[in-house]
Amino acid sequence: MVQIQYARNFVDSLGVDVNVVDWKGTLGNYNRETDTISLNLRRIIQHQKRGKKIDSFKESLTEYIKIIICHELGHRDDDHEHRTLTDLINEIDENNDPKFYLLDDFCDEVKSRAISVSVEKEVYAWRLGKKYVPTGLMDKYNKLNEEYIKEREERSAKSIEEMLDAKKGLAKILIEKELMGLT
Ligand SMILES: [Zn+2]
Repeated sequence: MVQIQYARNFVDSLGVDVNVVDWKGTLGNYNRETDTISLNLRRIIQHQKRGKKIDSFKESLTEYIKIIICHELGHRDDDHEHRTLTDLINEIDENNDPKFYLLDDFCDEVKSRAISVSVEKEVYAWRLGKKYVPTGLMDKYNKLNEEYIKEREERSAKSIEEMLDAKKGLAKILIEKELMGLT
């Protein structure tokens, strides 16, 4: 594919020494062990065409490739240790009574913290990738990253709500058990 050469040339023009390969996975990925950016060019082309159709963004294919590469370079420059959702929930469970899950305010707080943890890595990549974005492309870069992060937030909100429902169920059982113990 001619696009892979285009992607490599772009990375060279930034003066960054990183491998760029085509793959069959997500649109873009950075692997630290092999110092490689992988691009699913077939899907990138499909997405870009679809984006044009619904008029949600009007990047050309080459701009779209550049934007994805800048985001992946952001991951590459990110040496921050990010907590996982599991880390956060474990930490909350260690410090709080399980019955707190029956309180709406507590759940809202857990939900908003969990959502930000779930996109933290992507927000860092977005910010750190900015320094590679060519002049004139920053608005599109920001818009695409915002859309992408919003999408991920919505997806994780759903799974977090499911988890909170399960926690609520457990809290109820706990209270029932306690009540039975009292009678
Ligand atoms: Zn990313």
